[in-house]
Amino acid sequence: MTTVTLTGSCLCGDVTYEASGDAKNFFHCYCSRCRKATGTGHASNILMTPARLKWLTGEDQIESYKVRDAKSFTNLFCRICGARMPRYSAEHDLAVIPAGSLDVEPGVEPTARIFKGVATSWSCDSTELPEFEKYPPRA
Ligand SMILES: [Zn+2]
Ligand SMILES: [Zn+2]
Repeated sequence: MTTVTLTGSCLCGDVTYEASGDAKNFFHCYCSRCRKATGTGHASNILMTPARLKWLTGEDQIESYKVRDAKSFTNLFCRICGARMPRYSAEHDLAVIPAGSLDVEPGVEPTARIFKGVATSWSCDSTELPEFEKYPPRA
């Protein structure tokens, strides 16, 4: 576990944030929702808990979309540029930080590739990290 403070911003720069907490996991997720939300083969997210997420600028530009039949999958994004932004779940005291939105080195390394069971044939691959068909077992 590593306690980190990370800052990031959206593509147009209107939204900026600071997230701090204990970085528990750093997943490359290959699930279909992450693929649709990012337009890429996988999403790279840092999971912090406990966590604090503070919007520095542009909070009023943030839109959110919760996938209709999902328990909690919600996409937060800047309404001007569409860039994916972090989200915070009070229920789980959990922040999910899209690694690509960071303006600093995260100071933590990716820990696993998850939902490899549904990865596309063309997605990037590697054997350097543990892989899980879906979620990894709870630690
Ligand atoms: Zn933006
Ligand atoms: Zn996913």
